[in-house]
Amino acid sequence: MFDKILIANRGEIALRVIRACREMGIKSVAVHSTADADAMHVRMADESVCIGPPSGAQSYLSIPAIISACEITGAQAIHPGYGFLSENANFVQIIEDHGLTFIGPSAEHIRIMGDKITAKETAKNLGIPVVPGSEGGVPDLAAAKKAAADMGYPVIIKATAGGGGRGMKVAVNEKDLEVAFSTARSEAKAAFGNDEVYMEKYLQKPRHIEIQVFGDGKGTGIHLAERDCSLQRRHQKVFEEAPGPCITPEERARIGNICADAIGKMGYSGAGTVEFLYEDGEFYFIEMNTRLQVEHPVTEAIFGVDLVREQIRVAEGLPLSFSQDDLEINGHAIEVRINAEKLPNFAPCPGKITAFHAPGGLGVRMDSALYDGYSIPPYYDSLIGKLIVHGRDRTEALARLNRALGELIIDGIDTTVPLFHALLQEQDIHTGDYGIHWLERWLEENAPG
Ligand code: ADP
Repeated sequence: MFDKILIANRGEIALRVIRACREMGIKSVAVHSTADADAMHVRMADESVCIGPPSGAQSYLSIPAIISACEITGAQAIHPGYGFLSENANFVQIIEDHGLTFIGPSAEHIRIMGDKITAKETAKNLGIPVVPGSEGGVPDLAAAKKAAADMGYPVIIKATAGGGGRGMKVAVNEKDLEVAFSTARSEAKAAFGNDEVYMEKYLQKPRHIEIQVFGDGKGTGIHLAERDCSLQRRHQKVFEEAPGPCITPEERARIGNICADAIGKMGYSGAGTVEFLYEDGEFYFIEMNTRLQVEHPVTEAIFGVDLVREQIRVAEGLPLSFSQDDLEINGHAIEVRINAEKLPNFAPCPGKITAFHAPGGLGVRMDSALYDGYSIPPYYDSLIGKLIVHGRDRTEALARLNRALGELIIDGIDTTVPLFHALLQEQDIHTGDYGIHWLERWLEENAPG
């Protein structure tokens, strides 16, 4: 058993991990940059270590500083949260070389899934349905034209090393393709230092459906159903729910079991998410995230389990505390991502919080590192909180979301809260009738703020 865990992250996800540690009787170590000396995760952890100046590259991404912090404090394991070093295979290797434990999958599994072409190939070999597309990387325009002609327009060009919705370009015809291909490559080079791209059939009205999976590292894989994360802006999720409003129990069991089997066969260890596009009853694999997701609380709500606790257990070599048969969906949960951003352009809006009040009551969970008087630093991601509601069904969850948003007070800065008030006025949100392009189109016409 671990006595002490270091959390290589900040903000709400650091608090999330500290909370799980405390319930398990494990001491927690926060690391922070000089800009985060007054941050909530530093206040809440048992110990804290300053690991560098404000810039993420010199602090939360500094592997030597994080390993030193472990050595100074005697922490035996590192939880990476999401973002930062959470999907860095090299980090995992270094942790292991220092005799420490990474709370997450093996370096090898992270490496396989981090390269999107290899990930797709691996998924295919494990029996997971994938989006039709190029066989591997597309080296030049001629190859791109040929691949597009084979699969039919529209097509999407994606970076092999991609992530965070960057480096993707759509082409609707051959003329478009020339520009799209070269822009995708140069964007990929600038963002990821690797200009390799691949191509897929561009699906026109899919939903984003992702399966939460867990492996015990010893050949057992289980799934915890799906989340629907179709409401996206610039390929970034803003509103997530579980279960998916359009997925039938038969579809859930089918795709869930395919993923669980694949995870078992891989010998995967810990939490993961297998992401699909879903259209006309078919699932198409797009990628796998080898870490805890921002939107994991909706899954926790409908199953009544603590996913971080399970991650820690698996890292300790213990079995999962539930089997597939123990898992039963209870009700419906929705999460909205609250960002420090000014509408209508979603411009980052850091600054001082002059008043903060979190909503409460039955079925309401607020995961946030805000407090009265806190100054949000300008150096990091703009996510400042997640409001999660749980109801007996989707209608009750939506009513609860409306009620909870009404109670929430965040003064001093602009946030994305008005977007959610406006969305709750929309019929399509209530009927669940939206795909991945719905929000972009709606924003063009409605621009709240
Ligand atoms: P990233 O790793 O950058 O998040 P993903 O491959 O997960 O990239 O894709 C992110 C989003 O981009 C998806 O949720 C979807 O909205 C859109 N997308 C990706 N591939 C396709 C495709 N083949 N057709 C249509 N939309 C796509």
